[in-house]
Amino acid sequence: MYHRGLKSAVPELPEVESVRRRLEPVMARQRFARVTVRRPDLRSPFPKRFAARLTGETALAVERRAKYLLVPLSSGETLLMHLGMSGWFEVTRVQDDIRPARHDHVVFEMSSGHVVTFNDPRRFGFMDLLSKRALKAHPVLASLGPEPLSDAFDGRALARAVRGRKTPLKVALLDQRVIAGLGNIYAAEALHLARLSPRRAASTIATPTGEPRDAAVRLAAAIKQVLTEAIARQTAKTYRSARFRVYDREGDPCRRRSCGGTIERLTQAGRSTFYCADCQR
Ligand SMILES: [Zn+2]
Repeated sequence: MYHRGLKSAVPELPEVESVRRRLEPVMARQRFARVTVRRPDLRSPFPKRFAARLTGETALAVERRAKYLLVPLSSGETLLMHLGMSGWFEVTRVQDDIRPARHDHVVFEMSSGHVVTFNDPRRFGFMDLLSKRALKAHPVLASLGPEPLSDAFDGRALARAVRGRKTPLKVALLDQRVIAGLGNIYAAEALHLARLSPRRAASTIATPTGEPRDAAVRLAAAIKQVLTEAIARQTAKTYRSARFRVYDREGDPCRRRSCGGTIERLTQAGRSTFYCADCQR
């Protein structure tokens, strides 16, 4: 059961991963016994015959790529889902007899007896059904960089991805072609942990030939650490007690021992960046 009070502002990778971990045991290897769609669209219209194409098919797995959830189906199609700004799933059981709440847009009744309800007040989420070929050619998925929590992502991969890039490091980290699914909060958190300024040119963590400098190795490790810790918090359902290192802490003292600096805010590429100018270089 998911508690409404625990959802965060905009889902980032850790939130989506925690959703995946919650959905997997109730959806994977189960059939869609009944699918109810309560409106014609979310951010975009549902695909044609959406409910009919799902009903009776088995969900083979529940996977994640960046902030997308992918459910490969026995039909060969893949159910692609995105939480948008405010989307989330509630898991109940058929016998719970829960009446639909406002903004409950899609209901999956699984053969396991679990009911998975997608609720999205702002409707920036979306759901689509894609053939294998369409999935491969998907304009966003096809261009995504490595998953930060995969073994393929390390200082070497990060250095290669930012080689020659003169954009500020923080802006480069938000580029989904550099790393898949890293968002505004965890990019700032990782930079603080790695003691790197969000303002320095991205290329400075790599040598001219794209080899990792120490900064790239530190940053890759910091990205893995902040995401892993955030997923653990999400899974433990204590998200609200999360103590960010820098995010949303403008004017507060730096949490690094013996630093004594103050967290500052600046705007980069239209997004707020929080950092400590004393210990992040
Ligand atoms: Zn500091």
